[in-house]
Amino acid sequence: MPASEPMPGCARSSRSPLRLGDIVPFTTVDWPGRLAAVAFCVGCPWRCPYCQNHLLWSPDAATSTLDDLLALMRERQGLLDGVVFSGGEPLMQEALPDAIAQVRSLGFEVALHTGGADPARLEAILPQLSWVGFDVKAPWDAYERITGVPGSGDAARESLRLVLASGVAMEARTTWHPALLSTAEVERLARDIAQEGVRSWAVQAYRHVGTDGSLPRETVYPSDVPEGVAGLFESYEFRRA
Ligand code: SF4
Repeated sequence: MPASEPMPGCARSSRSPLRLGDIVPFTTVDWPGRLAAVAFCVGCPWRCPYCQNHLLWSPDAATSTLDDLLALMRERQGLLDGVVFSGGEPLMQEALPDAIAQVRSLGFEVALHTGGADPARLEAILPQLSWVGFDVKAPWDAYERITGVPGSGDAARESLRLVLASGVAMEARTTWHPALLSTAEVERLARDIAQEGVRSWAVQAYRHVGTDGSLPRETVYPSDVPEGVAGLFESYEFRRA
């Protein structure tokens, strides 16, 4: 999901219920146009085979807490614009709304990387967010092939609609491995989300490094993107995942 890789690091504290796999203190790539820290939340209900943060799937993978994050951000006041909550799937954590509120109380903006697995929790925090990076994994009816979870496409579609209705700035991104999505499916996905109202879309070519190695070492190239789909969006980018 995220562009930055987690690094080992912060001390454990027992006071905060937010469970973080790590904290990256500085990024310029995880939130376009902002200087931010990234808080990697542990736990995810989905099992995408291209996941580069599969070590965060277990809730027991936590090494850092909200206290660690807040201590870092107090040191970075005036230097950073905000915090990106990434994962894993941040929406899985009950402590996320309070964590966002505490980060904002220090004067920072907050962004979210999500696949939209919990529309109700997403709806509750949307007013507190300044930007959302939203993973669109497949045409809605093909989600289970990627996530391994029945009904995940319905949850993702509901979440995407909530983000778009909120007016919060957002980017949709799709990680593409040729064995998981056909060219026709990528075209259908692009047309679906453009019709929903997505204005910014990025195709992220599968990258083998950092995954669990279960997929073939294949990827896609800019010329594989179906002709005409880039023009459906005000902003389009092809990038390495
Ligand atoms: S939604 Fe998929 S890619 Fe994102 S953290 Fe979960 S398994 Fe990994």
